[in-house]
Amino acid sequence: MARYVFVTGGVVSSLGKGLSSASLAALLQLRGFKVRIRKLDPYLNVDPGTMNPFQHGEVFVTDDGAETDLDIGHYERFTGISATKSDNITTGGIYSDIIKKERKGDYLGGTVQVVPHVTDRIKKFISHDIKNEDFVICEIGGTVGDIESLPFLEAIRQFSNDIDKKNSLFIHLTLVPYMKASGELKTKPTQHSVKELRSLGIQPDIIICRSEKKIPISERKKISLFCNVNIENVIETIDVKTIYEAPISFHKEKLDDRVLSQFNIKSKKYPNLTKWKNITSKILNSKKDVNIGIIGKYVNLKDAYKSLDEALIHGGISNNLKVNLTRIDSENLKIQNLKSLLKDVSGVLIPGGFGKRGSEGKIAAIKYARLNNIPFFGICFGMQMAVIEAARNLLKIKDASTSEFGNNCTPVVGLLEEWQKGKKIFKGSEKNLGGTMRLGLYEAILKSNSLISKIYSMKKIKERHRHRYEVNIKYKKEFEKKGLIFSALSPDGMLPEIIELQNHPWFVGVQFHPEFRSKPFTPHPLFSSFVKAVAINKRKH
Ligand code: GLN
Repeated sequence: MARYVFVTGGVVSSLGKGLSSASLAALLQLRGFKVRIRKLDPYLNVDPGTMNPFQHGEVFVTDDGAETDLDIGHYERFTGISATKSDNITTGGIYSDIIKKERKGDYLGGTVQVVPHVTDRIKKFISHDIKNEDFVICEIGGTVGDIESLPFLEAIRQFSNDIDKKNSLFIHLTLVPYMKASGELKTKPTQHSVKELRSLGIQPDIIICRSEKKIPISERKKISLFCNVNIENVIETIDVKTIYEAPISFHKEKLDDRVLSQFNIKSKKYPNLTKWKNITSKILNSKKDVNIGIIGKYVNLKDAYKSLDEALIHGGISNNLKVNLTRIDSENLKIQNLKSLLKDVSGVLIPGGFGKRGSEGKIAAIKYARLNNIPFFGICFGMQMAVIEAARNLLKIKDASTSEFGNNCTPVVGLLEEWQKGKKIFKGSEKNLGGTMRLGLYEAILKSNSLISKIYSMKKIKERHRHRYEVNIKYKKEFEKKGLIFSALSPDGMLPEIIELQNHPWFVGVQFHPEFRSKPFTPHPLFSSFVKAVAINKRKH
């Protein structure tokens, strides 16, 4: 039977619960165990798909088309296990299920309540589809003390009782702040947070203390005493230079040891962290570097393009290069300042995006990259903007645009009424924004002898999608005459999946999001190839 590890957080948000959970999972894997990680999010959106990246960071898409929290991306990158729809749930998702059932009359006239109906639904999610896993690590989003978290905390308390307490474990992550004025680390916020958790019936077994300084034994003793936790189970986590150092640092702190010993389980093997050490050293010690400009709308929030940033780092790992990212706000980008804003970068990347704001800046940057032989990588919206730029300047369709910005244009990018996925007809819609995009893994057939077929060394690929609009196939011939090749199409030949420009060092647009499938140990070929092209361009100048 699977053992369940619940990870909660206290004091403040953004302490790194996701990375701690992912690191623990990676360490248990290295010890020979089968793990699964999932996340419960307390907000009321049914999924993060409709949330602005400014609010919530990136929306991570799974193979099966779920729009999930960005922590799911960390889980995949750290464990290599593809997440599914059943690995992330929100309060909104739970309530919408319950309300649907209630409307159908499934509760047979009963009163529907938080306890037991909501908590039962949460418990069902936690153990759903768990088969032969040794460990299920379950992260609870938010912070203990939030009103929204209560049903989740109650559910995990009940769950632990239901499965017999010895098969579950509670880890609580808190902040131990350093007070500069007095030169002290403060344990009181941790004590209060644990007190709050205990008042809800949950006694943490392990406390992970996030701190900017090493926590001395005296402070650990205090936390152990006041929080009723064995001193060996008070674990510190100090900021790391790269997230891939986190499993190494948690192992040094014996997190995996302590978890196994709480469960009274012997390790299947001693964890070999060499591969983690290797990538960490490549990221931190590579002598050569490249600068890549990411032009987008959400450049002020670090987490808005999380998977993309990571995929570029992975591309750096495969080329033994450090990748520096310069974020450029597309709204500030004008033809007049393009040259100066792009002067220090050797490659340009335009990521996924939505809406008209900032799009003209992106189009201007694409033109600049196209004409000046600067490696260009357009992802989803980035590819659509590249097609619009080419339509305006190569095909001379002056009003070429996307119907996403309104109907007052020649839509070289437009809304398709129907997409085919297997035998099911999928209807896209502009009216209903939640979950109505072309989402998840779709197949594409690569054109032989193209740059892209060399990059992938494959004929067919599957990549994750998240978009509503498509490049209109009817312009294919005209574009190809001008050297813009549609080098991958959907199997039915209707949907352009990849474009590439001939007679340019590296100019590729993809309708999907390759960043979601890149892993530190298996960098995505598109990112490896792009970073390589950027490095070649740097050497030339
Ligand atoms: N807004 C575009 C669409 O919906 C692109 C989406 C994206 O970049 N993920 O088609």
